[in-house]
Amino acid sequence: MAPTIRLGKIFGIEVGLNWSLVFIFGLIAWTLAVDLFPQQVPGQTGTAYWLAALAGAAAFYACLLAHELAHALVARRSGVKVAGITLWLFGGVSRLDGEPKSARAEALIAGVGPLTSFAVAVIATGLWLVTAGSPLVSNLFGWLAFVNAALGVFNLVPAFPLDGGRLLSAIFWWRQGTRQRGVHSAVRIGRVVAYLMIGIGVIEVFTVSPVDGIWIAFLGWFLLSAGSSEEAGTTMKAALRAVPVSAAMTSPVITIPDWVTVEQFLESIAPAHHFTTYPVHDPSGKLTGVVRLGDLVKVAGGAQAEKRLNALARPIAEVPTARPDEDLGSLIERVGLGLEKRVLVFDDGQLVGILSPIDVARLLTMRQGAGRM
Ligand SMILES: [Zn+2]
Repeated sequence: MAPTIRLGKIFGIEVGLNWSLVFIFGLIAWTLAVDLFPQQVPGQTGTAYWLAALAGAAAFYACLLAHELAHALVARRSGVKVAGITLWLFGGVSRLDGEPKSARAEALIAGVGPLTSFAVAVIATGLWLVTAGSPLVSNLFGWLAFVNAALGVFNLVPAFPLDGGRLLSAIFWWRQGTRQRGVHSAVRIGRVVAYLMIGIGVIEVFTVSPVDGIWIAFLGWFLLSAGSSEEAGTTMKAALRAVPVSAAMTSPVITIPDWVTVEQFLESIAPAHHFTTYPVHDPSGKLTGVVRLGDLVKVAGGAQAEKRLNALARPIAEVPTARPDEDLGSLIERVGLGLEKRVLVFDDGQLVGILSPIDVARLLTMRQGAGRM
């Protein structure tokens, strides 16, 4: 879930919004202003209701942010890189690059979120009591206390990607020894919870309230698919952790003089090889960058085809590198799952291979075929 609107940094952590939130913000404010507040605190002006409602909706998202910040800060303290926080339709997501190192760290990172929501609920309850003299303000704090308590409870539902699912997985990790087994067991329980929610939702559609029923069933379905993708991701990462870069990389690598033109390259060099990425070197043999066949084909026939490769190459300093004995799991954690940039593999300063997403995909397919996943 990438943010569509960037808000800025809090404690050095990037915070963004998803567009869906703007819609939900309006919905919450509207519900408070025309339904909840007029019902519970009658006799106020429309402006007063709307002001309280807008403050309530803003405070609600501040509470969501507090919940996610707690996850992100504890994760960072435990040595897990935090890519950022995105607030969206269902609340917030802390995007973590990498995994906790221990079951304890996983439990702390997951547990601190609901704990923060419960703490906020307690503070809001205090404010609700203190502000009893002005009913609308007091009512606003009462509502915040309720939604934060609900947020804490909902997040403890034991299914991925909710905090309860991660807590459960941490407990199984601690009992069964590996993160992968922990996730596997937690996903199985999460699946039961998700099917129960779908079942309850369907029953509710035909009995109590169709709208609530559809909501619950939809959430159940969402948890079901989130559990499957969590398990697939964990299995893949575990498989990659057992494989050195040297097993997946393409080797040997053909390097091209960086002073040949794009035209010369496409006419006489590219047809002779089957690679899609080529490192280029200067007359002294020093590597200066990397060119991709796809980028060069795009400029063929145009004015840029006359240019030399060094004008179009991605500078060598921007290209990520790896050692042949590094495991693929940690490399992908470092460079990103997309591996879009291609990785050059050096052994003792010598270029020995190049790694592309296709290399990793091919290796995974082969391992799957061999039943080693
Ligand atoms: Zn959470």
